[in-house]
Amino acid sequence: MLRILDSTLREGEQTPGVYFDVHIKIAIADLLDSIGIDIIEAGHPVVTENIRQAVAGIAARNLSARVGAHARSIERDVDVALECGVGFLGIFYCVSDARLSHHSQSLPQAIDRISRVIRMARGKRPDLLIRYTPEDAVRSPYANVLTAATEAVRAGADIISIADTTGVMIPGSERNMFDYVSRLKDDLARRDLFPDIAVHCHNDRGLALANALDAFRAGASIIDATVLGLGERAGIVDLATLLAVLAHDFRVDRQWNLVRIPELYELVSRYARVPIPVNLPVTGKNAFTHCAGVHTQAAMKNPLHYQSLDPGVVGRHSEVSLDHMSGMAALMHCLEQIGEMEVDDDLAGKVLKKVKEVGETGRTVDLLELRYIVKYLREHRAAA
Ligand SMILES: [Zn+2]
Repeated sequence: MLRILDSTLREGEQTPGVYFDVHIKIAIADLLDSIGIDIIEAGHPVVTENIRQAVAGIAARNLSARVGAHARSIERDVDVALECGVGFLGIFYCVSDARLSHHSQSLPQAIDRISRVIRMARGKRPDLLIRYTPEDAVRSPYANVLTAATEAVRAGADIISIADTTGVMIPGSERNMFDYVSRLKDDLARRDLFPDIAVHCHNDRGLALANALDAFRAGASIIDATVLGLGERAGIVDLATLLAVLAHDFRVDRQWNLVRIPELYELVSRYARVPIPVNLPVTGKNAFTHCAGVHTQAAMKNPLHYQSLDPGVVGRHSEVSLDHMSGMAALMHCLEQIGEMEVDDDLAGKVLKKVKEVGETGRTVDLLELRYIVKYLREHRAAA
């Protein structure tokens, strides 16, 4: 079964300038849980005392979601995480030759260390969900990743996460997630190992979502995402877009309470101090707004002419916005929406002229402003 891991509180907080207070983290975790997110990655507890408090505080809330902590392959990191009471532990360690030599480690030494830490965590908490992430997996030698993954699963890891740490994968090219995940699953299966495969896709090339879906198609069963796609550099997969696409276009055996998505985005945007881009799919202000004249006319007859995603999926609805591109059909539609069905042709012509004038200044006319325009022009017909 497909599971969604939200990392807004861990990866998201690695966005330059983003910090969430403990009480805000708890509010975000509660909303994620109400939406039906499976795993909430709450933070790396040894980094600061505030993060430790947040992880422990969220873990104590008895959420339906598994609450997770990040840990380096170090016993102390694991101990601190387990003391927080988490049900999920994400352990990471690099396996690329360049990074290993930087740490003055050989691959066997690294694998020994990873296995030892996983065995220790498994021994202390048999019910713990353990994920091992070979950092920068897709740019590391494949043989190293396979060996490390094999030994991690033998030591007790339930999940192997394929991290496209720098966003280099491109669907359909030689380096693509579909082939990578397929190959890893096959090679592990040949060794009688069947861990869940997770994917952590960075968005440096704007392809994080495409790569995550490519991995899902190959059998990855956990996808990482964050609210607003927050994260290091260009961030990772945007949670709302991922969920809307999965709910709308894929036959996934899952139900999410997506109508709470707008509330979650407002909350995270406000306290991360990162505005929601107006053209962001699903949650952006303009995501379901029709503006250009010819589009609006067609969209009013049938929204699907210029819209492929149902805004109702996230509790929103289509909107029409008026500007210099708007025609009479769009204006009449908007007049109807504000209860102005009795506007005669002469007044409608004057209103449309004014709307276009406003549009040329770079603003759009919403329904509230349309009321004021109609009122003004009705009262000042002669002057207009
Ligand atoms: Zn990351």
